[in-house]
Amino acid sequence: MKQTQSKDVKGKRTARKPRNGDEAALAADERALKRKAKIVHEKLLAIYGEPQWTRLDGVSELVATILSQNTNDGNRDLAYARLRARFPTWEAVRDAPAEAVIEAIRPAGLANQKGPRIQFALRRITEERGELNIDFLAQMPVDEARRWLLSINGIGPKTAAIVLLFCYDKPVFPVDTHVHRVTGRLGLRPPKLTADQTHDLMERICPPGAQFAFHINLIRHGREVCHARNPQCNRCPLQRECDYFRAA
Ligand code: SF4
Repeated sequence: MKQTQSKDVKGKRTARKPRNGDEAALAADERALKRKAKIVHEKLLAIYGEPQWTRLDGVSELVATILSQNTNDGNRDLAYARLRARFPTWEAVRDAPAEAVIEAIRPAGLANQKGPRIQFALRRITEERGELNIDFLAQMPVDEARRWLLSINGIGPKTAAIVLLFCYDKPVFPVDTHVHRVTGRLGLRPPKLTADQTHDLMERICPPGAQFAFHINLIRHGREVCHARNPQCNRCPLQRECDYFRAA
């Protein structure tokens, strides 16, 4: 929530709590964003349908998501397949020489970072839980589960949100580069909101139960129509909802 600065009696800078009027304006803004999010979600569903996916267990999804950082799905899938082919279990990945893991995942890029990151996460899970299994997250309140994942070095808000949504149906909203760009153009978020900040906003304004479909369909729209360069506005069914299109 936005706070402004004022001086206390000793002249120090302190955060001023929003006045009632500020809070009312923010609540009204968010109500409008919720209405818009619902319309956009329904239009995307009409175009792309309900997305289907193969659910992985939590540890496998965590590894796959680390591999997907800063690369495309094809490279991620190739690196994941090589990793699975070379090591029979996640325990074997955890205990392998670092160089062997790095070599296996090279197609994903940044292998020197991602390899140690994966092994560190696998070791940390084992230390904390006594096994390579994070299904206990399913029973945790969402904020607690997110904090637990974020406490692992190398796991950021997007990776945590993907694991919680894809594996445990938690009502969170992962924001990748496509979601960030498309929501910005549509005006579903303030222009200066970072991707990490957009996670929180999208969680609040997404229609209940629609997090997975909305997330996947926004990505698909970003890849197929609302490209980073030269968005195909002339064939986009979201023109009426889009701030970028109206301003053009
Ligand atoms: S109208 Fe253009 S900018 Fe807006 S969502 Fe569609 S493709 Fe993107």
